[in-house]
Amino acid sequence: MNQRDPLKRVLYIDLSRKSFWIDDRVDLFERWLGGIGVAVQLFKEEAPKNIEPLSPENPVIFSIGPLTSLYPLASKTVALFKSPLTGNLGESHAGGRSAIAIRLAGYGAIIIKGASQLPLYLVIKEGEVEFRDGSALWGISNANTVGRILREAAIGRGIRTIMRIGKAGEKLVSYAAVITETYRHFGRLGLGAVLGSKKVKGIIIYGKHSIPIQDKKKYREIYDRLYRLAVGSDAMKRYHDLGTAINILPLNYIGALPTRNLNSSRFEGAEEICGENIAEKKLARRVACAHCPIACIHIASIREPYPDEPYFYKTTFISYDHELLYSLGSMLGVKKIDDVLRLIDTVEAMGLDAISTGVCLAWATEAYKRGIITINETLVELDWGNIDNYIQVIKYIVEQPNDFYGMLARGTREASKHYGGQEFALNFGGNEMPGYHTGYGAIIGYSIGSRHSHLDCAGYRVDQTIKEPPSPEEFVELLIKEEEWRQILNSLTICLFARSIYNVENIIEALKPLGYNYTEEELKKTGEEIYFEKQKLKLKLGFKPEELKIPSRVFETPTPHGLLKREYIEEALQHYIKLIEYKTLQ
Ligand code: SF4
Repeated sequence: MNQRDPLKRVLYIDLSRKSFWIDDRVDLFERWLGGIGVAVQLFKEEAPKNIEPLSPENPVIFSIGPLTSLYPLASKTVALFKSPLTGNLGESHAGGRSAIAIRLAGYGAIIIKGASQLPLYLVIKEGEVEFRDGSALWGISNANTVGRILREAAIGRGIRTIMRIGKAGEKLVSYAAVITETYRHFGRLGLGAVLGSKKVKGIIIYGKHSIPIQDKKKYREIYDRLYRLAVGSDAMKRYHDLGTAINILPLNYIGALPTRNLNSSRFEGAEEICGENIAEKKLARRVACAHCPIACIHIASIREPYPDEPYFYKTTFISYDHELLYSLGSMLGVKKIDDVLRLIDTVEAMGLDAISTGVCLAWATEAYKRGIITINETLVELDWGNIDNYIQVIKYIVEQPNDFYGMLARGTREASKHYGGQEFALNFGGNEMPGYHTGYGAIIGYSIGSRHSHLDCAGYRVDQTIKEPPSPEEFVELLIKEEEWRQILNSLTICLFARSIYNVENIIEALKPLGYNYTEEELKKTGEEIYFEKQKLKLKLGFKPEELKIPSRVFETPTPHGLLKREYIEEALQHYIKLIEYKTLQ
């Protein structure tokens, strides 16, 4: 049995030369833990300053952390790349079995560079990479079909993950996703397009390496404590019972659920598409990422009769959560559960990011209704809740039959720059808006967060816990502090749903039996350093914080804190710019 810790080894794959090599990078993993901390450093080493997102020079980095496969809920893999959607740093996290498979295959990180001339899929095992012909897979539009085929191809032993792209990735849609297993994704910021540009249709990783533990007795104690905390916690029970779909009703109640391209923050169909109603009528099962006792992934089933075949039905299983119900439900005025699920299924099959797709459809619907674009561009009529046409539009986004769809495939920022309607193009730094219109915290968070995502610093949560917002400066500092701490969680690749279980004390204890001795101060300092390393990298890649634009719509639709004032947000952004300039110059 191999007792060498595989975590500190990096697998380098060069697609252009069809070669690979492995380096020990103890230096990086000891200094930056793993996950995002290590990925940022690897990206700095690998990416020249002015790379194009869809060029062979854009490296894709997958990275995991020291807790992976050892502790419950340390289930995520971090992916880092230059995003074709924002033109800046792209960071996306996925669960499933990806993290454990990477570690048991004998690596802490995998870097994929270059580009293949012909379609291929990669098979990665310990000490071995196969570059297999993927021509027969190229052109298969449904990402799940690709997954099923690759399952047959992946004959090997151990824990296995299958990542793949759908047609959207092949066609370089800027918000194409990568699907892992069946219900998990590297969803945001266009990793699917980057792999598509490299002609990589799929990646299979498997392994059965063992992992040495320095202090087994202590490890078992901490493991038991964390496991008991996770399964006994009310916070985690919510995720198991209804998942994040539980958010729809409360957000609607307080007036924070973006509806019809944020023309409203309340949706009259919320009772129908809420987690409670779907669970009652459609929930088929719950599944979990590997090594997670919570199982927050909710799978609904829909049955459609086969034509002319009485008593025969096609049953489709579809995973759903809050973001999907918002972006393909309330944001588009879709009121029936089956209709939202059909849209989710289409997006999933094509291999698109659901949030960006929904917000693109919402922008296009409003632009169409205002006469900014016409049927000459859209090819079908667009109206809120018109599900059949939305399904057609999703297919057009992927196929890009005309210039308009070519532009819409690049996101709301590019489409609105070209056709107009920037004031209601709901993106921040180029990334489409998540499903929370809760107040200043949400909007500042989307703007200054490294990924322009609600997950960076959870401003939407702060909005829901405060009566009055603090000063813009204080708000920015509060959100940056939160984002700094999340760099530790993301370097240890802990599921963010488990952030209350993995508090500072528990993380320090969990690391000890693995040979890492951190004080609280050291851990927080590392989080701060990773945050600023990432900000510096964004600036190097061309991010210009002074060019951040907030769509006017945000100020026209009330939040639970009333109508937001532009001056407040602008003051906050100025303060952020000052802090970033000061810190990154040090
Ligand atoms: S809580 Fe959900 S997302 Fe997090 S690790 Fe478990 S199953 Fe995966």
